[in-house]
Amino acid sequence: QLAYVNGRILPLADASLHVEDRGTQFADAVYEVCAVMNGRILDWGPHLVRLRRNLAELGIIWSMADGPFGLQARRLIAANGHKDCLLYIQISRGVARRDHAFPDAAPASVVMTVRRFDFGQRVRQLGSGIKVITRPDNRWGRVDIKTTGLLGNVLAKQAAREAGAFEAWLLAGETVREGSSTNAWIVKDGRIITHPTGTSILPGIARDSLIRLATAAQMVVEERPFTLAEARDADEAFLTSTTAPILPVVAVDEHRIGKEGFRGKPGPVTARLAELVWAEVARQTGW
Ligand code: PLP
Repeated sequence: QLAYVNGRILPLADASLHVEDRGTQFADAVYEVCAVMNGRILDWGPHLVRLRRNLAELGIIWSMADGPFGLQARRLIAANGHKDCLLYIQISRGVARRDHAFPDAAPASVVMTVRRFDFGQRVRQLGSGIKVITRPDNRWGRVDIKTTGLLGNVLAKQAAREAGAFEAWLLAGETVREGSSTNAWIVKDGRIITHPTGTSILPGIARDSLIRLATAAQMVVEERPFTLAEARDADEAFLTSTTAPILPVVAVDEHRIGKEGFRGKPGPVTARLAELVWAEVARQTGW
């Protein structure tokens, strides 16, 4: 197991950040998680665009250009030798004596890890689907920025784990925003519905990809808020993320989702979307 720390590749066990890194003291850091399949990074371009946007939103200055950075990431993946893995990238505002205001001249800290991941499990889960619970969304007001300040997400995911569910859908009043680490979707009368981007959800790369694939396949996508009542009454539901490109949601808070014949089971629209999603994965990575 190897990791990348500020330009060096070294054993994971020896890889560390300074105790005064602003990432640890303030969660003053952004991150990305990329799927690597068959040794190739899925959607690398969109991940880089989002990373740069997040850095710009926070005013974190990082001078490395896309080309050299891509080479560093690929070098780490190759050095680890895993064909199927998750690439984690974290960039903080750097190391400085603790003070809320930005330091004058601290270079950004960049760390990357690569951990093996079983994407085959996600294909197998298409058959059964997964359950979600719901929790109030008590995160800060700019969750569109992918920062490491994830305590609200962590507590929601742990609640899901303890309830025997895969994910927690986060509610603002009656509105379903997204999951703790996934975007949330419902299907009603053939229409595919997901919360619009803005400041109250993370604009998922898998979300964006699914919208493009569905639209190209002449399916109707509506980016609009939907309520918990709509989700319970939906024909189908599913979630998307880098680590779960698409998974059918068959129950919300113990309420089984679906039309007659499909209640509590994955539905046909989700199955069609899963075909499109995994065909795109194969096109990009040969997986
Ligand atoms: N929403 C939240 C809160 C997330 O943390 C994530 C990913 O970690 C997603 C959605 C899905 O985003 P992506 O498709 O880019 O993995």
